Amino acid sequence: MAGLCAAAHARELGAAPVVFEKGTRPGGSMLLSSCVIWRFREWDDFRAECATGDERLQRVLWERLDEGIAWLEALGAPVLEHETGNPRTVGKRFDPLGLTDTLVRAAGDVRLGEGASEAVILATGGFQGDAGLVAEHVRPAAPLRLRANPWSRGDGLRVGLAAGAELSAGMSEFYGRNMPDAEFSEDEFVPRVQLYGRYARVFNEEGEEFFEGDVSWSENDLVQATARQPGARAWYVLDDWALEQSVRGWKVEEMVAAAPTRLEPSQLPFSAPAGARVAVRVSPGITHTIGGLRIDEKAHVVGADGLFAAGADVGGISTGGYASGLAAALVFGRIAAESVLSS
Ligand SMILES: Cc1cc2nc3c(=O)[nH]c(=O)nc-3n(C[C@H](O)[C@H](O)[C@H](O)COP(=O)(O)OP(=O)(O)OC[C@H]3O[C@@H](n4cnc5c(N)ncnc54)[C@H](O)[C@@H]3O)c2cc1C
Repeated sequence: MAGLCAAAHARELGAAPVVFEKGTRPGGSMLLSSCVIWRFREWDDFRAECATGDERLQRVLWERLDEGIAWLEALGAPVLEHETGNPRTVGKRFDPLGLTDTLVRAAGDVRLGEGASEAVILATGGFQGDAGLVAEHVRPAAPLRLRANPWSRGDGLRVGLAAGAELSAGMSEFYGRNMPDAEFSEDEFVPRVQLYGRYARVFNEEGEEFFEGDVSWSENDLVQATARQPGARAWYVLDDWALEQSVRGWKVEEMVAAAPTRLEPSQLPFSAPAGARVAVRVSPGITHTIGGLRIDEKAHVVGADGLFAAGADVGGISTGGYASGLAAALVFGRIAAESVLSS
């Protein structure tokens, strides 16, 4: 998304940019996403949620997102919902295919299946697709399944580092969802999500309840904690009450029914707690890395003169918690275009 936003904005500012897209289709993970572009309603909430993130970048993101969303609408991107459905956040849900088509049209020259030999704006979408980089920085207890486009393999990170870039905080953090601990396809990225850890009792393979305190609303803290358990997996054990709950309109019972790794509590590898009705073995699907290249408010890569970056190649914005990756790609993609053209 960030590269397309940068190019579309650069074109309207009078430049003739080229987007080099390594994949076989445009849109990256944006195309596969639920496409809710959002920010925290309250600034203090953003700071509290992502307390170890770079405050200056967060401020820019928070202040410029509404204008970015209005820009997408003015380009003709179709909005499906004008609210996020979460009282803590504001934003809009776009149609991912319609948004991709709109941005490709506005960007103009998008070359599929090509990497750039010399890029000015790095926007390759993070390093979650490279198991070696994930093992080095994120250090999960076992390899994580990818829940994202297959092409984001840290190319931007490597180019930035070779040019002298500094790394952001939070290199070990990632955003993802706990999924059934089984193979899943792109079409199942959303419908197979197991987003009810807050209502479950959560055990690791050894039968230990490893997560302390309350699970956050995004459950990203629980997902990251799961990645550090033996085998990078966990068991969600539910009673009747838990099965009757719902999360953001999704019924827990239906999410459980979509999991091929559900079983009777008597089949657990440890003693089931009293009242257990069903258990689901889950493991994290990694969607994007949270650490990456360090940039300043103008999207310059710190330490690498003349290089700019946006989207999940940039780290340190939602560090410590979770914030919209699409929002960061939109805001800093547009800023990167402005900075390149004024430098
Ligand atoms: C199932 C799912 C649901 C999601 N839901 C949401 C949501 O509702 N809200 C939200 O905010 N976020 C959501 N996200 C996350 C969001 O999609 C990402 O944060 C966002 O797309 C990141 O933008 P980006 O531009 O950095 O990366 P991308 O959108 O992935 O774009 C990166 C592009 O770079 C290309 N590329 C990689 N390497 C190279 C190279 N060397 N040369 C050229 N091109 C290259 C890739 O092919 C890709 O097209 C979701 C993601 C998924 C997978």
